[in-house]
Formats: sequence, C-alpha cells, structure tokens
Amino acid sequence: MKRVLLVGAGHAHAWVLSSLAKAPIYGARFTLVSPSARQLYSAMLPGVIAGHYRREEAEFDVALLAERAYAEFIPGTVESLDAERRIAILSDGREIAFDMASLNAGSRTEDAVPGSREHALSVKPFERLVERLRVVSHVAVAGGGAGGAELAMALRHRGGEVTLYSERAAFSPEVARRVERRLRRVGVDYRPGMRVDAVERGPLVVAGAARQQFDLVLWATGPAPLPWLAASGLALDEHGFVQVDRALRSVSHPHVLAVGDCAALDEAKSGVHSVRHGRLLAQNLRKLVAGEALEPYQPRPRALLLLTCGARYAIAARGGWSTEGRLVWWWKNAIDRRWMRRLNATGAR
Ligand SMILES: Cc1cc2nc3c(=O)[nH]c(=O)nc-3n(C[C@H](O)[C@H](O)[C@H](O)COP(=O)(O)OP(=O)(O)OC[C@H]3O[C@@H](n4cnc5c(N)ncnc54)[C@H](O)[C@@H]3O)c2cc1C
Repeated sequence: MKRVLLVGAGHAHAWVLSSLAKAPIYGARFTLVSPSARQLYSAMLPGVIAGHYRREEAEFDVALLAERAYAEFIPGTVESLDAERRIAILSDGREIAFDMASLNAGSRTEDAVPGSREHALSVKPFERLVERLRVVSHVAVAGGGAGGAELAMALRHRGGEVTLYSERAAFSPEVARRVERRLRRVGVDYRPGMRVDAVERGPLVVAGAARQQFDLVLWATGPAPLPWLAASGLALDEHGFVQVDRALRSVSHPHVLAVGDCAALDEAKSGVHSVRHGRLLAQNLRKLVAGEALEPYQPRPRALLLLTCGARYAIAARGGWSTEGRLVWWWKNAIDRRWMRRLNATGAR
C-alpha cells in the first residue's frame, strides 16, 4: 500500500480529491495536510470584500472533501520536508512518512521591502485578510497585478479611500489601459510606476521622496516561494520554486510532485493553471500507483484572465483579445460558483 502525502488543499489537490471521491485509487492511502478545515477561494475573495458574496459562499469544506475522497485529513502546517528521507514535519512536531508526496501549498507574498513584514498586511492568508478588512478606511495597496488591482477596486466599492502603488506593468498594454481606465473611473488613486521603497510604523508608505500615512497598508506584490522548500533537498529554480519535469515531478526527487504556485513552470502563477495541473495530477497519481507511464503537462502561457472591478463589472483577456462589462462579471461569477459547487458537492472527476 503506497502512502501518498498531499501537502496543501490548493486548487490542484481540490481537483484530485474531488476526482478520488468519484473513483478511488486502490493500492494507495492518501493523507492531506492543510492548515484549516475550510478554505476561502481566492478568485471570489475580492467579491467577498466588495460585499457581493457572503464568506461561506466563497469557502469550501476541506475536511469533508477529504473524507469523501477516503483521504485522512490532518489539520496542520508542514514546516519542513526531507525529500530524501521521505518525511514531512509539521509545526507541532508531528512527523509524517510517505512513499510519494505532492506539493500544492501555494506561495507567500514577496516581502523583501523593508518594513513590509512588520507594518503591512500580507494578502495571505486570506482568512486573516477578510477578518482585518471588516472595517475599511484609508488604505494603500502595494502591487498592481491582478490581485492588487482587484482588491483596490473592491475596497473602493466598500467606500474606502484607496491608493494603489504599482512598480511595474503587470499586463499587456491593451489590458493595462483597460485596468487603468477602470481604476480611475471607480476613484482609486492609482500610482503607476511608483515603487514602495519602505513601510514604516504608522503605517507610513515611503515611495521615493514621498511619504504618506494610511490606516492600513496591504501587501499584494507577486508570489514568492514557501520558505521550507529551500531546505527540502528538492532542486529549485533561481527564485526558489520546485523544478519539475514534464509530468510535474521534481527533477531531483521524482517521488515528489509539485503543482500550482509551488512549481517552477513557464506560465503565470494562477488558480486557473493550478486547476489544470490538478486534472493531470489526478490521472498521473493513478498511473504512478499502477506503475504506468505518466502523461506530460502542456503549459498554457495564454490563460484566460478575468479581473473584477469592484462593482459587478469585470475585464476579460486572453492573448491579444480583451473585453469588459457587466456580462463579463456574470460570466466569471458563473465559473466561480460552478467551481465551488464542484468542490462542495465533490461531483467532479
Ligand atoms: C486577491 C487575489 C485574487 C486572485 N484571483 C485569482 C483569480 O481570479 N483567478 C486565478 O486564477 N488566480 C487568482 N489569484 C491567484 C491565485 O490565488 C494563486 O495563484 C492560487 O491560489 C495558487 O493556487 P495553488 O493551488 O498553488 O495554492 P492555493 O490555492 O493558494 O492553496 C494553497 C494551500 O496550501 C495550504 N498551505 C500553505 N502552506 C502550507 C504548509 N506549510 N503546509 C500545509 N499546507 C499549506 C494553504 O492553506 C492552502 O490550502 C488571486 C490571488 C489573489 C491574491
């Protein structure tokens, strides 16, 4: 009986679990380690903050999903992983031995800017963010990517006074124009090309010669690798993400797979891609247990971007095509709700 450890209830593992619920894999015992029994879905987070969804509507029940997949759920956080010895150690000291492991523990927010860790609020974990944003006032958002722009507009929609700092262009010129037009229309004080150099007590944002005080600084800069990967023994890319082969196995330790934000792949880090990894992972775990050859992953550099704009209005883009409007919001809403139904009903394969 192979012991398969799933680290993190990210999008890919959620897909795998829903697949296992439909068709179990004989000859393998699955264990899922993830910090909480319920998980907020990132794509609906701006909608929760804007007030379009109740929090429960944007959450799925990790524990129940695991139970229906015949997997043991261990609420906890992996603090270190020894790929060679095949052992994971949790923050409470428990050790879990495995024959195979799959890492879908996401990423953290890049926080190298001085003071960002101490005086700004990271967007992750989402649960803490939602609690903290119950009352919205004068907020700075650092990071003008999709997540930062969506959060800025969601907070503005809730009546906050919002300044968005964006060091560099995060979109194609056409999409960037749409996002900027929308930010300005909804009344976000948008500062493109402005890097936050430091955050000081106050909190005070230092950007070049300018210093400005806010009630809260939100840290929404790009994804950075989880710190424990560095000591895992796994081969990592120059940023610290796990290097994987075409079947999403570690290039140094093929009994460890890495998917979602954890993996170093030639595509943007997004939930959409993580779900695609999950589809392949569900197939390949079956093949691994059966000792069959694995299917390769086909990266998709041009995924669909759907970006919500505070009100029930969204921007869509793929490759050179883009559009925006209320219908786009309803389209995204339908996609997100379908995903939540899938996870909460465990009806997918
Ligand atoms: C505001 C915002 C909005 C976004 N909107 C979208 C969107 O609309 N569409 C989209 O495609 N992407 C969106 N993203 C990006 C998306 O959230 C990430 O790329 C995506 O969540 C990564 O998915 P994942 O499957 O790798 O891991 P995640 O979905 O992040 O899940 C990671 C899991 O691992 C767990 N975990 C973490 N550390 C440990 C540990 N040490 N031990 C055990 N478990 C652990 C976590 O609790 C969680 O269960 C958004 C991001 C933000 C910040």
